[in-house]
Amino acid sequence: MTEAAVPDAIAERLTPFPTDHFLSATDLNPPAAHALLDLADAFAEHNRQTSSRPLDLMAGRTVVNLFFENSTRTSSSFEIAAKRLGADVVTMPVQASSVAKGETLIDTAVTLNAMAPEILVVRHGASGAAHLLSQKVGCAVVNAGDGRHQHPTQALLDALTIRRTFGDVGGLTVAICGDVAHSRVARSNIALLSMLGARVRLVGPPTLIPSAAARWGCEVFHHMREGLAGADVVMMLRLQLERMEGALIPSTREYFRFWGLDREKLAWAAPGAKVMHPGPMNRGVEIDSDVADDLTVSLIQQQVEMGVAARMAVLAALTERRHGGGR
Ligand code: ASP
Repeated sequence: MTEAAVPDAIAERLTPFPTDHFLSATDLNPPAAHALLDLADAFAEHNRQTSSRPLDLMAGRTVVNLFFENSTRTSSSFEIAAKRLGADVVTMPVQASSVAKGETLIDTAVTLNAMAPEILVVRHGASGAAHLLSQKVGCAVVNAGDGRHQHPTQALLDALTIRRTFGDVGGLTVAICGDVAHSRVARSNIALLSMLGARVRLVGPPTLIPSAAARWGCEVFHHMREGLAGADVVMMLRLQLERMEGALIPSTREYFRFWGLDREKLAWAAPGAKVMHPGPMNRGVEIDSDVADDLTVSLIQQQVEMGVAARMAVLAALTERRHGGGR
C-alpha cells in the first residue's frame, strides 16, 4: 500500500522526542509533554477523519513489540500506531520464542537489535527491565510497562483523554483510587499529571498505598468519600492480584463494598466528574459495570482510542529525534 502524505497539522507539531528512549513519564518536562499532547491530538483527529492509508512517517522502518507479560490493549495499540505511521511491525510472541527455551532478556534484545529495528517496545514483569535493555541496544526503547514501576504511554494517553475532555489538565483534581501499591499506571500518572499542573490524590486502603507515597507530593486518603470529594476525575485501578504477596484485602466482595466505584460513591465527586480505568477491568471488584459503561461519565472507551494517537505521537517523535528531517 502506498503511504499518504503527512497532513500539515501533524507536520507542524512534529518535534523530536526529548530523550533517546521513553522509559518513564519523568523523561518528559512540561514543554515536551505539551508538545507530545499537541501532536497526539493531531493524530487523534487524523485517525477519526481519514481512510486507512498509512502515513509515511516511519516507512521502511521496523518496530518490534516484545511483550513478556500479557497484554491486549497495549500491544495491539502499539501495533496499530506503528502501522498507521507506515512502519513494519513484528510482534514477538514471547511464549513461542527462544525466551521459552531459556534465552535471557538481554540475549533476546541483543538478537533483535542485530536485525536493526528502529524502535523496540518492551513490556516485562521486572521493574527496570526497559532501562536495562536501553543500555544494550542501538534502537530506541519504549517502556510498555515494567513491573510496578512505569507505564509512560498510559499516562500520556490518560493526559490526552483528560485534556480533550476538560480542555486542560492544569487545575483539575484527579483521584487515583485502589491498588496504587502494585500500579505502574499510578506511578506514571502521578508524575505526568502533576507535571501538567493537576492536583493528584491517592485513595485506597493503607495496605494498598505504599508508605513512599508520602514523598510523591500527593494527598493520601483512606476513605472514598473524603478522597472523592471535589474530584474532577476518578481514576480507578485494577486490583492486581497477580502482583500481591500475601492477602492485602479481606475479599473482593468486601473490597467492592468499600472501594469499588458505583453510582453512590461517584456522587461524592465534583458535579460532572469523569471516570477512567486503564483496563483490563475487574467488573464488580474495583468498578461497577453501571458506571463503567455509562458513556456520559465514563472515558474508558476514549482512553483506548487515545492510546493509538498517543503512541503514534511517541513513535513519530522518537523517529524524528533519530533522523530529523531526513525521513
Ligand atoms: N494495563 C495496565 C498495565 O499494564 C493496567 C493493569 O494491568 O491493571 O499496567
